[in-house]
Amino acid sequence: MYKYDLPSCARQRFVSFPLTVAREKSVPHTPATTRVEGELVFLGTGTSMGVPVIGCDCPTCTSEDARNRRTRCGVVVGLPEGNLLVDTPTELRMQLVRERIGIIHAVLFTHDHADHIFGLDDLRLFPYYLGRRLSLYTEPLVEQRIRKSFDYAFEQRAQQYAAGGVPQLDFVTIGEDPFEVLGARVIPVRLKHGRFDVLGFRFGNVAYCTDTNSISPDNMAKLQDLDVLIIDALRSAPHPTHFSLEEAVALAEELSPGRTVFTHMSHDLEHVSTNASLPAGMELAYDGMRIPLS
Ligand SMILES: [Zn+2]
Ligand SMILES: [Zn+2]
Ligand SMILES: [Zn+2]
Repeated sequence: MYKYDLPSCARQRFVSFPLTVAREKSVPHTPATTRVEGELVFLGTGTSMGVPVIGCDCPTCTSEDARNRRTRCGVVVGLPEGNLLVDTPTELRMQLVRERIGIIHAVLFTHDHADHIFGLDDLRLFPYYLGRRLSLYTEPLVEQRIRKSFDYAFEQRAQQYAAGGVPQLDFVTIGEDPFEVLGARVIPVRLKHGRFDVLGFRFGNVAYCTDTNSISPDNMAKLQDLDVLIIDALRSAPHPTHFSLEEAVALAEELSPGRTVFTHMSHDLEHVSTNASLPAGMELAYDGMRIPLS
């Protein structure tokens, strides 16, 4: 009976197999590589509308420089036991294909805003490749929002589908306490994003802190002695839920990491001219940028 519930593409593949056989027969190939151990890869570095903005002909949006084309924010962190995806941005499939990252072993979420979760359906392939369900590490509120937004993946009958039909996902609840994933220790950092609560994450001496405009002293203490600070910097003018570039520079000067990389930028920040205006050791990220973990 399940075959009639499958999307048409999956139906073609699975229609003649009982469920257990379908699982074995359904793996299309071993994914072409793509472990990125020891690196953090920027999948996307743009704000929620992306850059170029639809219908905009400003100099950034019409730039020939690929670094001015910013998809929605996410990163892959190459940990000892696999690739950890942070958020499932809207363009996830295109980002992973572009970076030739063929496998994701676990997913961690910063928060539940649309630009950070709406690529979730693109996770369907990974349980398929891994031969197991994929774990999503989230705070309880983020889990609730994902369950609501992607209800088809969590309803009872979805559990009968062959891998590939719907995303086969399990939740792992996290909070502000450090936890282990894929052979690494992760330290959550509570960030304020206007009235919303967000998590940043510290991996060794590299911290990823997107979507924030305020960090409490307790959480600033978790960001000491970094080799690389990755921090939200939306635009030049102040904003109620994101750091402006000026605010982000001041924060970086206070924390004094070895290197600061800004992300979640709008079209207000043209890559080359903005970089030329920044203090030494600070730069804008761009889609595809890779930095070493330490
Ligand atoms: Zn965002
Ligand atoms: Zn523009
Ligand atoms: Zn947000």
